[in-house]
Amino acid sequence: MGDILVVGSINMDIINKVERHPSVGETISALETETGPGGKGANQAVAASRMGSQVTLAGAVGTDSYGEELLALLNGENVNTERIMVKEGLTGLAFITVNGAGHNHIIVSPGANEKLSEADLLPLMPELNQAKALIVQNEIPWAVSAYIIKEARARNVKVLVNPAPVEHFPVTILPSIDLLIVNQHESEALTGLQAKDHVQAVQAAQRLLDLGANAVVLTLGEQGVIYLDRNGEYFREAFQVSAVDTTAAGDTFIGALASSIVKGKATQEAVDWACAAAAICVTRKGAIPSIPYWEEVRALIE
Ligand code: ATP
Repeated sequence: MGDILVVGSINMDIINKVERHPSVGETISALETETGPGGKGANQAVAASRMGSQVTLAGAVGTDSYGEELLALLNGENVNTERIMVKEGLTGLAFITVNGAGHNHIIVSPGANEKLSEADLLPLMPELNQAKALIVQNEIPWAVSAYIIKEARARNVKVLVNPAPVEHFPVTILPSIDLLIVNQHESEALTGLQAKDHVQAVQAAQRLLDLGANAVVLTLGEQGVIYLDRNGEYFREAFQVSAVDTTAAGDTFIGALASSIVKGKATQEAVDWACAAAAICVTRKGAIPSIPYWEEVRALIE
């Protein structure tokens, strides 16, 4: 039984490193190309597992060889994969381009992820009864996420939601979320307010509370993170590191945050640990390979 239940996407990432991103209509050559495991659900599950939590991941992979590879990898990461379905067809694929400055562009091809149904989650209820926290993102059909959020709330399981990608995310769900975790882009899409600096970010987070969220974590990239609930604000500066590739920084942050919360840390301390984990992540290439272990995070934070 897991402390944390993640219901979300599982992808194979196809990563191209380029000098600069191409403009519209332009063809450029990659400097190097590699594949690696990813998907927000898988990344966040691995991040929480590497922080020492017991994690169950529910989702779907395809019948291709990527699906098998991903299941083996997740098992090797101590993530419980018993609730991962194998669906006829392709596994989800993410085409990632990283430029010389470490900034990425990503196109996701959902594959098996979009075949996940509410009925697929029925066997998950015993795990949900035992879980302390549920994490969902927005890379599987929204009806499936909405269903598991409803079931989690009925069981008093803490609900963490990362509305990424933010397109078609229904703000009406915000009151059902215990902790909403957004980056600057997602925050702006949900509120219509920019969050470029600290002052703007607090206003945007406040708007999210006004829209019904119970607590908001707004990540600000290299500037750090703001936590806001109805009792007040906590700002945490980012750790000073040299960024190589920001892929999975947000996912690492969320997995580490959830893990710290279910271990009983106060929210501010949990945010500190999540910042430290994400800072280590940006110093390395790729998605899952860049996610740190608890010992590394502790060494940075203490
Ligand atoms: P991504 O999509 O690249 O995974 P994101 O856009 O979801 O990331 P960000 O706000 O960019 O999320 O980053 C999440 C957290 O990672 C930040 O709050 C910060 O703690 C950490 N972080 C990101 N970039 C840096 C950096 N250059 N240096 C240190 N920490 C960073």
